[in-house]
Amino acid sequence: MRGQVRRRVYLAIAGLGLAGCAWQIARGRAPEVERVFTFPLLAAFLLAAVALLVWFPARIRWIEVVGFVVLGTVWLTTAAVQLARTPDAADAWLTLFPGPFANLCLLVVLAHLWFDARWALVASLLAPALALAVGLVRFLPDDPGYAVDLVGAIGYVAVLAMLAFLMARSKEALARSRAEASRLRELAHTDVLTGLPNRRRLMEALHVAVQDRRADGRTAVVLFDLDHFKGVNDRYGHDVGDLVLQEVTDVVLASLRPDAVFGRWGGEEFLVVVPQAGLDDGAAVAERLRTAISSHPFSGGLSMTASFGVSAVADGDSVDAVLLRADRLLYVAKDSGRDLVVTRLPRR
Ligand code: GH3
Ligand code: MG
Ligand code: MG
Repeated sequence: MRGQVRRRVYLAIAGLGLAGCAWQIARGRAPEVERVFTFPLLAAFLLAAVALLVWFPARIRWIEVVGFVVLGTVWLTTAAVQLARTPDAADAWLTLFPGPFANLCLLVVLAHLWFDARWALVASLLAPALALAVGLVRFLPDDPGYAVDLVGAIGYVAVLAMLAFLMARSKEALARSRAEASRLRELAHTDVLTGLPNRRRLMEALHVAVQDRRADGRTAVVLFDLDHFKGVNDRYGHDVGDLVLQEVTDVVLASLRPDAVFGRWGGEEFLVVVPQAGLDDGAAVAERLRTAISSHPFSGGLSMTASFGVSAVADGDSVDAVLLRADRLLYVAKDSGRDLVVTRLPRR
């Protein structure tokens, strides 16, 4: 449950609980043990819970752990005192319903709401086991028939606890597999060396951009390739080449708006999808990146430059058409001497 929702639900329950305690105390019909012990103690706990929820909402976990112990202890003690103070076995049996029996069922639900499945099973079996022990002490010497009935009733709660455990386990397994699926999805869309979105993720962004165009959206696509990168590998080794790719990543990330999708297209080619940008905006972004890369002092005193092709998604474009245009423009930049941004094909 999300934090805010959980807090509101607890506040509502605490409000109802406080009203119930006040009503029971004022009405004066509940057994003495409940009027002098159970309801005042519950009211004190609920008031403390409300105070924590209002002033220290981050401490919500305390309410849950302490709440389980307080409620379990108060309800079991009340049931035990009631049983001990009611001399007739039939009357004593009646004191168990609906209050203490309903409270045991509620403890099962609370345990599974507040603890992970294994601890919840322990907690939600411990309460009925203690209730059974108290009940057997009360009924066995007096009227064993009620002891047998009690075993049946507690067995019912135990079955409820085990079914809740199974449900909690399958929910935990579902949460684990969802987390795993999202981790795998992340891996499938991430470049290992740079941690950037990979080609698959960039293709998705391009498809969105092409769809967007049909609703009049504008997107610029900036494709760039490092100049003479093979020379870096040849001269300094592949490891230094890898470091340069990582450094380029940092330099570019520092120069981009957060809504741009910047990824590694492959090798030493990168692509930026710039939303809400036409050709001129795309060219400005590319020019900013070109300057950032060429002026950056790379580790080991290396200098790097890059060549850029910029295109804007046009009406009727397909992803392939936009990419092909950007690629051609990039190679015009290479042919024209590198360290350049090109947005239009030269006239022949
Ligand atoms: P140009 O200016 O024409 O782009 O020249 P270039 O040397 O950059 O181009 P070329 O395509 O000849 O070389 C690209 C090199 O990038 C070749 C390849 O070994 C290297 N490369 C591709 N991926 C990686 C990588 O992940 N790490 C490293 N270190 N090098 C890589
Ligand atoms: Mg290159
Ligand atoms: Mg290349």
